[in-house]
Amino acid sequence: MPEKVLKSTCSYCGVGCGLLITKDAKNRIQVDGDPDHPVNRGMLCSKGRNLHYVVNDTSDRLLYPQMRWSRSHPLERVDWDTALDRAAQVFKSIIEKHGPDSVGFYVSGQCLTEEYYIANKLVKGFLGTNNIDTNSRLCMSSAVVGYKKTFGEDSVPISYADIELADCFLITGANPAYCHPILYRRLEQHKEKNPDVRVIAVDPRLTDTAAAADLHLQLIPGTDIILYNAIGRRLLQLGLIDKDFINNHTEGFNQYKEQVNKLSLREASKLCGVPMADIKKAADWIGISKGFISMWAMGLNQSVVGTNKNFALLNLSLITGQVGKPGCGPFSLTGQPNAMGGREVGGMANLLAVHKDLTNPEHRSEVAQFWGVESISPKPGYTATQMFEELETGKLKAIWIICTNPAVSLPDVNRVEKALKNARFVVVQDISNRSDTLAYADLVLPAAGWLEKEGTMTNSERRITYLPKAVNAPGEARPDVEIICDFAQKMGFRGFNFYNTEEIYQEYCTMTRGTSIDISYLNYDRLKTEGSFQWPVNEYRHPGTPRLFEDRKFYTPSQKAVFNIPATVTNRSIKPSAAFPFILTTGRVRDQWHTMTKTGKVSRLRTHYPKPVLEIHPADAFALNIREGNLCEVSSENGNVRVTARLTDSIRKGVVFLPMHWGKKLNSSLNRTNNLTQNMVDPQSKEPDFKFTAVKVARYQKK
Ligand code: SF4
Repeated sequence: MPEKVLKSTCSYCGVGCGLLITKDAKNRIQVDGDPDHPVNRGMLCSKGRNLHYVVNDTSDRLLYPQMRWSRSHPLERVDWDTALDRAAQVFKSIIEKHGPDSVGFYVSGQCLTEEYYIANKLVKGFLGTNNIDTNSRLCMSSAVVGYKKTFGEDSVPISYADIELADCFLITGANPAYCHPILYRRLEQHKEKNPDVRVIAVDPRLTDTAAAADLHLQLIPGTDIILYNAIGRRLLQLGLIDKDFINNHTEGFNQYKEQVNKLSLREASKLCGVPMADIKKAADWIGISKGFISMWAMGLNQSVVGTNKNFALLNLSLITGQVGKPGCGPFSLTGQPNAMGGREVGGMANLLAVHKDLTNPEHRSEVAQFWGVESISPKPGYTATQMFEELETGKLKAIWIICTNPAVSLPDVNRVEKALKNARFVVVQDISNRSDTLAYADLVLPAAGWLEKEGTMTNSERRITYLPKAVNAPGEARPDVEIICDFAQKMGFRGFNFYNTEEIYQEYCTMTRGTSIDISYLNYDRLKTEGSFQWPVNEYRHPGTPRLFEDRKFYTPSQKAVFNIPATVTNRSIKPSAAFPFILTTGRVRDQWHTMTKTGKVSRLRTHYPKPVLEIHPADAFALNIREGNLCEVSSENGNVRVTARLTDSIRKGVVFLPMHWGKKLNSSLNRTNNLTQNMVDPQSKEPDFKFTAVKVARYQKK
């Protein structure tokens, strides 16, 4: 007989599907889609459906703290007090000798909001440095800058419910059929009921999303800005723009007009590799649409010009006036379950909590006052890739890594490994022994996982959900908030003696009062009894806010949305050359998640894409004498991988694709895709470029 049914949220992607958790007498859980949840209405994708395996199988779990006294010693089991005393002693001594900027925290979009909040309070308020960044830097920091500069704050204006009200979609740099499957299913259902709905997909690969679209613009990687500007130019030529919105609610339109008119459609078509007729068709569909939604993810964001790509795309919503109305708006899809929650609490090296600005002295002083500290450092902290660069140079001495696996997921991982070896002290706080990063830890702290602790998360549409504790964590694993608060107290800091997680949430809610993300009227009781809410929730019994900017007032000083003009329309990644003639683009496969520390445990999720393969166009393969299934060597300036070839005409000639999930623990290091990628970032968002690496490919010959 089932013991109890609890409501929770899927711990994988940013769609945020609602779940029913059934627990039996043996503490084993079963997972079903919640038919009453507004996001998924009972549906689940393959990853969500198999979540119970991840929780029920504890064979890979870290069960107790482990520590090494020096690099030449092996890790040995210690108790929690010894582990956190040592952490506090090392952090204190490093900060005393080298200053607060010599330590850093690298956290994750899978952390719950309370965890994110308390880690930020510790680092920015009490350690005295802004060196806290998140693996969400790798997914959506370009979108954060795009929203901030366009709307005045990092605010996603729309909801999933707007999908069912729209009639034209531009899906670009995203494959939601694989990576946001339930969101995509809602779009499919909408289209099944309304055959006139048009979907345009922009992708150098014929993904499942692109294959099902009405129009696929198979552009040359890196030419996105030229393409969106060409669509903008055509809209201007035809007069398919919203003059009233442009005149009354935006600024910068003339500069925009000037930029898009610089290239003719013919020139743009040539540069993008997209037929002119298709650019015109896309523009015409967008221009006559009553509800236009753009959706994007890492294909846009993970680029050295990721922010500019965001600007160019957002500008299409501005010229058509497709913001702040039902069924329209620019919709950045978050990859991780709580990437949005992290943004709310300021979980990045250049942000402050509740959308306050680190560069603004008043904002810094407000946050300092709230936390009862003297000041917040004005100096932006090291971002994700910078942290590892500075570990290599020795400026950063200690790093605390929570719930992420940089030894697989960061670009140029060989360099990341060197940096971790060079660090004076590495703390890894995680749930699983599957993380490759553990190999470099001086201190391993076992954390409680999903369903083993309570807290909240925010999905892609600003929807906050409460996640209950359903089962006990195995061994001595503890919730992340407890670990962080205990460490803070051992450091001698006040303000961390919370009675429970709810008190941390309440403190954060109080901080949001009067801001654009005000949830001061949303407590745990409401979340538990009434379900999820979209912020802001800023009045008593407020029902939440599905759509922003309905009054056409934006968060900029002028209350107008801003046309940001890309500083360059051309890509700045290292171009292919005679030595490295192909463009490598990396991405996800349908049934795997990140570095597979969770999905890799589930045998049925391995059947769809059992091992990494190199996708290459048959014409390119033929020229290299490579046949289907041949072992190939792919090399860049940074390293090599050996991987079997899959010949497919779904990819452009001159472009190859590798999935990003596999690390050393799952395969040999020779299959680790990020051996190849460049440590290059967008100058504004500091997001790395995973979508454009110059490589060469050869059939592997044993030497
Ligand atoms: Fe989980 Fe995302 Fe799948 Fe929904 S779509 S079940 S949130 S992985």
